[in-house]
Amino acid sequence: MSEDMREKEIMDDDAEYEKICFICRRPESKTGKQVIMPGNICICPDCLQRTFDAMDTNGMGFNMNDLNGMNFGGMDVSQLMSMMNGTQKPEQRSSSSTDNGSSSKENSDEQNTPKEKTEEVSEKIPSIRFVNLADLQGDIPRRQKLKKKKTGEKKRSGIDIKKIPAPHKIKEQLDEYVVGQEYAKKVISVGVYNHYKRIAVNETDGIEIEKSNMLMIGPTGSGKTYLVKTLAKLLDVPLAIADATSLTEAGYIGDDIESVVSKLLAAADNDVDKAETGIIFIDEIDKIAKKRNASTRDVSGESVQQGLLKLLEGSEVEVPVGANSKNAMVPLATVNTSNILFICGGAFPDLEDIIKERLNKQASIGFIADLKDKYDNVNDLIRQVTIDDLKTYGMIPEFLGRLPILFTLDGLTKEMLAQVLKEPKNAILKQYKKLLELDEVQLIFDDGAVEAIAEKAIEKKTGARALRSIIEEFMLDIMFEIPKDDNIGTVIITREYIEKKGGPVIEMRGTDALPFPSEKESQ
Ligand code: ADP
Repeated sequence: MSEDMREKEIMDDDAEYEKICFICRRPESKTGKQVIMPGNICICPDCLQRTFDAMDTNGMGFNMNDLNGMNFGGMDVSQLMSMMNGTQKPEQRSSSSTDNGSSSKENSDEQNTPKEKTEEVSEKIPSIRFVNLADLQGDIPRRQKLKKKKTGEKKRSGIDIKKIPAPHKIKEQLDEYVVGQEYAKKVISVGVYNHYKRIAVNETDGIEIEKSNMLMIGPTGSGKTYLVKTLAKLLDVPLAIADATSLTEAGYIGDDIESVVSKLLAAADNDVDKAETGIIFIDEIDKIAKKRNASTRDVSGESVQQGLLKLLEGSEVEVPVGANSKNAMVPLATVNTSNILFICGGAFPDLEDIIKERLNKQASIGFIADLKDKYDNVNDLIRQVTIDDLKTYGMIPEFLGRLPILFTLDGLTKEMLAQVLKEPKNAILKQYKKLLELDEVQLIFDDGAVEAIAEKAIEKKTGARALRSIIEEFMLDIMFEIPKDDNIGTVIITREYIEKKGGPVIEMRGTDALPFPSEKESQ
């Protein structure tokens, strides 16, 4: 983006967003008018003053004054500000800083500001962390502004109880996109409905409805992420999708736990109020299970679960705006997570073995002892999961306790995969049909073809994720060949073509079916 456009963006945003000081991270409403430096960096008058003061005596035995004959140290930013702004003068700075020459000599570190000086500033400047050099290397957050909080009126959720769709309505809408998973859709519709009701009501009678965070378990490609994405779209709430694998305890390489909230803030366009009623989906939650026999500190497992506790429960967290970790370069915003709906999802491989083991143990005691392999061929074993099984898997009880709604998704069967191909509103086959329609060619998949694609996908064992790659493979030839010939009117994909035993049926405009061009060449 060019510098001009960036400047323009800043101007456009000014009405709704407020600037945040690049150094002390306080918003403009607290610091007084801020100065915009090149590179979209805002600095508050206090920090600017401190910077000039620090230049006066830099502790290195070399004086800036001598260097260029300018007395930065004696400069009063309040004068400068009023010069720059024409009229406005920040209220916070009242006296000039001629006294700081000797005092800042002792402390070139800005954290140890002399006492008298700090008292001058009406609100204490927060401590400044050390600059993380890695952050300076080009990755300066793009947008360091926060939406202004509405003042005056008492903070309200902004959710109207009458506007929340009833659970059956939510499910009906989900049905249009997500195939199967009836149970999961029902649970999630009710859970979400209750969650937003909880936010909408004012708990005046002392009955506070508890938070309904969810944990969903289902094999890969069964639609976990898709379900949550669709839900957020239908409800028109901001959604953040985070991956638990990248999270680590604060201070270690990886993303801080709070980064999940900053993702949500970004999804809500830096509007704290909006973010506070959003949804956070944490995928791959099984990857933060407690490591068994771990001899080293488990920074990406149990510690992350512990770190997530306070977020799930609901607390005020300071999150970096536009970055994954806190440091001096990033402004912070305070977000209350008590109205954020957390949905965790994971495939939990090998969980079935744990369930089987438990069931076998129960069944092999006493007179009612059963055969040991009784559960070996049960398909929906995962549905019988209990909290105890998850504890055995490595999830800590406190964590599970904060995810009271537990439900499972089924692995997709061949029939379901065929439906996924054809039925949802933006089904893959519909997408390809539309693509070819733009070339004025009709694309038809016959039933045998759809079945064959589903069979191939089942073999890959990655659920609906496999579908796209299978289709992509054989559609390549078609997409390449069809535009060559303007006379082609219809293409029919058959089972033979999918199984590479024949070609698709091509119908020319106004004539009979012909073999596909590539077919002719290969014969
Ligand atoms: P995961 O369960 O691993 O999170 P995803 O939700 O990411 O899987 O699914 C991958 C893709 O497969 C989705 O983008 C969606 O298009 C498709 N898909 C998966 N399950 C379903 C389903 N039940 N109904 C419709 N499409 C589905």
